[in-house]
Amino acid sequence: VAALQARVAALEGGAGAVCCSSGHAAQIMALFPLMAPRRNIVASTRLYGGTVTQFSHTIRRFGWSAKFVDFDDPEALRAAIDDDTRAVFCESISNPGGSVTDIPAVAAIADAAGIPLIVDNTLATPYLCRPIEMGATLVVHSLTKYMTGNGTVTGGVVVDSGTFDWSASDKFPSLSAPEPAYHGLKFHETFGNMAFTFHGIAIGLRDLGMTMNPQGAHYTLMGIETLGLRMERHVANAQKVAAWLEADDRVERVTYAGLDSSPWNATARRLYPKGAGALFTFAIRGGYAAAVKLVDALSLFSHVANLGDARSLVIHSAS
Ligand SMILES: *Cc1c(COP(=O)(O)O)cnc(C)c1O
Repeated sequence: VAALQARVAALEGGAGAVCCSSGHAAQIMALFPLMAPRRNIVASTRLYGGTVTQFSHTIRRFGWSAKFVDFDDPEALRAAIDDDTRAVFCESISNPGGSVTDIPAVAAIADAAGIPLIVDNTLATPYLCRPIEMGATLVVHSLTKYMTGNGTVTGGVVVDSGTFDWSASDKFPSLSAPEPAYHGLKFHETFGNMAFTFHGIAIGLRDLGMTMNPQGAHYTLMGIETLGLRMERHVANAQKVAAWLEADDRVERVTYAGLDSSPWNATARRLYPKGAGALFTFAIRGGYAAAVKLVDALSLFSHVANLGDARSLVIHSAS
């Protein structure tokens, strides 16, 4: 697990990383040192559905909350951040729409507010996007997907850039002030740019228990060896399928940011030059019944939910 942590930290250009039991665990692990009851996060409207549920309902049990805004609207993002906001959260490439986030623009807004930007880089992987280079403080992954790449592992990771000054304000007492859960240790003063990582290990993993199993780490380490080859092929395949669908009269629209027709195409070309990932949505004429019929008729594309492995998949969430 330690080897995987070091490898993902290196791939993302971070100071340190903490692996955990799933992508959703990684999100709780990332938020845990930052949050307290009555604190909020500002999150993009374009997020994985499971994350929307986690942020809309589950975190409320901890007294945390999320406000969802359109991250393409800088004014709306700025206005949503208040004195109780402790993080800004988005996906680099969004699940399932495949839109891309202008990370430098979002990072500048988080920076000006003195709060960290957390980027879920699951769909891009560090092969297509390195959020820390664009100003993100923390990167989270579901290793369950492309990083492992063969559907054998449920895992997650939190990578810390090591660049955020946790002591610049009194907003992050778990890191800047004596931490009662660890004998009053001051993590930032003691560990410097490794404060967030050590807090994740010493308190997050110990007390929340979302540890990654070593066998899973082993499979993910093997998967990562072919990440570059796989992502290159995933992008080439997606680009071809998206263009083919868009050219078909039976298809109403395709959302892939790799297509000229996408409102995110310019941002994708500028910030994601190796490609806009391999997940997108499309609508076919004929509505619900036609979509069900299509999914049932496909043979190469499996009707399953676990994206990011070697099999092509299709899903119609409504049914
Ligand atoms: C799957 C996924 C998650 C959650 O990951 P799990 O490992 O299934 O908990 C989070 N974010 C994105 C973008 C995902 O695709």
